[in-house]
Amino acid sequence: MKKIIFLLFVTILTACTSTETKKETSNAAVFIGETIIAAAVDSVKSLQPAADPALLEKGVKHAASLWRAEDGTPPEFADFVKTNYVSDPAKRKVVFNKISGYFESLNGNFNEITLDLKKVLDENIGDVDDIDQMFGNYSVGSHVSDDFYSNKIAFCIALNFPYFTLAEKEKLGPGWSREDWAMARLGDYFVSRVPANLDQAVTTAIGNAEMYIAEYNICMGHLRTDDGRQLFPENMVLLSHWNLRDELKADYADKEKGAEKQDMIYNVMLHIINQDIPKAVINSKDYEWAPYLNKVTKGGLVVEAPAEGDARYGHIVSIFNAMKAIDAYNPEMNTAILRKFSREMEIAQDEVEALFDSYLSSPQLAKVGALIKEKLGRDLKPYDIWFDGFKSRSSIPEDLLTSKTSKLYPNPEAFHAGMPAMLRTLGWTPERAKYLADKIVVDPARGSGHAWGASMKGAVSHLRTRIQETGMDYKGYNIAVHEFGHNVEQTISLYDVDNYMMSGVPNTAITEAMAFVFQSRDLMLLGMKEQNPDKHKLETLDAAWSLMEIMGVGMVDMKTWKWLYENPGATPAQLKESVINIAKEIWNKYFAPVIGVKDSPILAIYSHMVDSPLYLANYSYGHIVQFQLEEFLKGKDFPKEIDRIYSQGHLTPQQWMIGAVGSKISTQPLLNALDEALK
Ligand SMILES: [Zn+2]
Repeated sequence: MKKIIFLLFVTILTACTSTETKKETSNAAVFIGETIIAAAVDSVKSLQPAADPALLEKGVKHAASLWRAEDGTPPEFADFVKTNYVSDPAKRKVVFNKISGYFESLNGNFNEITLDLKKVLDENIGDVDDIDQMFGNYSVGSHVSDDFYSNKIAFCIALNFPYFTLAEKEKLGPGWSREDWAMARLGDYFVSRVPANLDQAVTTAIGNAEMYIAEYNICMGHLRTDDGRQLFPENMVLLSHWNLRDELKADYADKEKGAEKQDMIYNVMLHIINQDIPKAVINSKDYEWAPYLNKVTKGGLVVEAPAEGDARYGHIVSIFNAMKAIDAYNPEMNTAILRKFSREMEIAQDEVEALFDSYLSSPQLAKVGALIKEKLGRDLKPYDIWFDGFKSRSSIPEDLLTSKTSKLYPNPEAFHAGMPAMLRTLGWTPERAKYLADKIVVDPARGSGHAWGASMKGAVSHLRTRIQETGMDYKGYNIAVHEFGHNVEQTISLYDVDNYMMSGVPNTAITEAMAFVFQSRDLMLLGMKEQNPDKHKLETLDAAWSLMEIMGVGMVDMKTWKWLYENPGATPAQLKESVINIAKEIWNKYFAPVIGVKDSPILAIYSHMVDSPLYLANYSYGHIVQFQLEEFLKGKDFPKEIDRIYSQGHLTPQQWMIGAVGSKISTQPLLNALDEALK
């Protein structure tokens, strides 16, 4: 995990769109009309005849889209443009560098303050008092965006450094200088201006959905077979759907009752999707529930128990309505789909869908399915999308590893002291290893740990890790090495990127890839070697199979939101029907040929569909980028490539990947490895 705190501009890290799927709607939020825009452009042209006309028009239009009545009258807008437009390229560069420096100071120092205010919450350094919670939850930069509209800094930036949509970045980016790129990234700061109450409505709708999911527990000890038997331990409580899925995975190892348990979990999942689960059995130990008969009993007596209804789908509808309400304030990204994909992820939704379609249609997947069928000795069932048997078990006992890690790293200081040596083991020179390690500190974590990067040069990133009294156990070490990978990425992508505005990485998938690259070398860093000769083959099969599952649920999520935009007045009941149809359609198209069963709606079970709409595709990209990067690094000069790749900074994901490995984000390397593994 990596902590990413966008202090100043929470929703405006990146901002772009592909115009091809933009909805043609009238823009209710417009205050500055076409006539004023044209007049403002003309006034600059007459005063500064050398101004680049395309850039000028883009800037004025963009600034106009952000201007509201409270900022001044339309003539005052025109006046503002006339006074503040900078057309001279040399002067523009000077202004840009100044803004860049100011932003580094603001972002960097706010980040340091936030680290201080959260220190007691995040680090294991004594009791947490109420006052720590109060300071820890205070967001120090939350008003900067508003301030920058009222003091007009936002308009100055929007006017002189307009933002480029994703489509424009993809088209023009390859021809841009690094400075052009950095200026375009500055243009991403002020993209849309959504009234606070509408933003709040989205936060509330998502908060309600998160609460709904967080409390959606199934009391497994209260489930019964049709003949009244209890299959699960009395006190087992599983959160839908992640815990249910993990239990289902673990049940592959239970040769005796595993299959019966898995069938029951699958049945419970179907009731959740169909919403005919009795409301009384959710998060409650008051009743016994026989899911196959869908019968509720208490003390042996049958109880009348109404179905949950459509609450699950009601949350999605509420989030949709709240998100749709801000469409009008995003002239270039006027659907939630555009904002999630083209702006946040910076990969257009249709491109994501095309990649998923091509992977899910790969003939290799049916071969993996056949292999699993052989391993299980039975026909496949829909829940075998969670088949767990390709995990390569280590040939080294965990106790042995723990005895080694706990001796090496009795405390955070010891892990910190060991970092230069780890980097040297990975191939960095002693000087470079010291340079990187000097910019990372290690703190005792209260939770499981994380990596928190710096936001200005001169500051350090924090590796938070949990270490027991007896020293670091192997599991903790494995996670710490993952976080260490994040910290090294954070250091390179801040200190070694040529322009502050370009610092960072394109998206979460790309920093996770680096963390996993480190994590997978954890034994090597201990001076040990995995002896299992099938390790790579098993990892490939596992990666291919889990990618299929996560792409499937991502597809359902995307198609659901497209349907919502086509049916904006849909009721929760109508949405339910549609989601089930979509899930079955996707199942029948891609999964039925692999699994051999038709019409399963299981892909609709994912909880993130309810509380983190349109996020699921990110997981798939994480898997793909990681695999692609590992394949590329094989046989190469590891530190040299890592330094080169991660100092590219904040390009779009596709251009970053082309720079990194020479091709766009692609599942081909995984499919090639899969062909090898299937031989
Ligand atoms: Zn991570």
